[in-house]
Amino acid sequence: MRIGCHLSIAKGFSAAAKVAPTLGANAFQYFTKNPRGFRNAKPLDRVDAERGRALMQELDLVAVGHTPYLINLATPDDSLYAASIEALVQDLVIAEARGTYGVVVHCGKPKDQGREWGIERMQEALRAVLERNATEGVRILIENTAGQGSEIGTTLAELLAIVEPFSLDQVGICLDTQHAFAAGMITREAPEAFEGFNRPDFMNRLHAIHLNDSKVEFNARKDRHEMIGQGALGLDGIARIVNDPRLEHIPFYLETPVDKESQYADEIATVRSLLHQ
Ligand SMILES: [Zn+2]
Ligand SMILES: [Zn+2]
Repeated sequence: MRIGCHLSIAKGFSAAAKVAPTLGANAFQYFTKNPRGFRNAKPLDRVDAERGRALMQELDLVAVGHTPYLINLATPDDSLYAASIEALVQDLVIAEARGTYGVVVHCGKPKDQGREWGIERMQEALRAVLERNATEGVRILIENTAGQGSEIGTTLAELLAIVEPFSLDQVGICLDTQHAFAAGMITREAPEAFEGFNRPDFMNRLHAIHLNDSKVEFNARKDRHEMIGQGALGLDGIARIVNDPRLEHIPFYLETPVDKESQYADEIATVRSLLHQ
């Protein structure tokens, strides 16, 4: 199984690639830019990116980038919309330089404009990004949301509607288990019953799973991650997900609220201990 966690790249991307195996990870996620801002991003360190890329091959790692939270591809605010498109274009370049196969971006928030409008606004943003995109081998991975505020992407139908016009090579999906649970998309008792896992139009898009337990109950519509086994999804719910043969080939990324990165070693070990041989 491919499993890893979100890692800081404060000491460089290549440093994160070195840390991953020490935690038992063979996959990792990083923030493409400061997660809370994007206007004053540091320029890409190409030497570090190349070093990290080589290390990933040597250590058999895969990675995805995560865009800053400020990106909102469905915003009615024209200046934030333009900045979000610009940021995503850059993030694809950053991900390509680092040899990482995807860039995760959350579904947008259309405020009071409505969900239909939001879906179209997001598609228009994705079209604008892809028109300018010259990278290869990096997919935009649209992440489902918990449904806080006006967030779209809380149902299978909405996720499929957003990605439908785009080629499989360019736009995929990242499924966050906490968001899916909080949005009422998957249950604790039978998360494997999620309809998407049986649908080729979903599975052909699915390239990453954010494996998180939930601090909040089913359908609570809040984005609150919990440590594996300590939340409302629980060890049983998590075990059912990681043992599902349909998800065998999908990399899992933990984004659980550890105090320090070294704790991910235990989180990863916990997940591995749930695997039936
Ligand atoms: Zn996530
Ligand atoms: Zn989240």
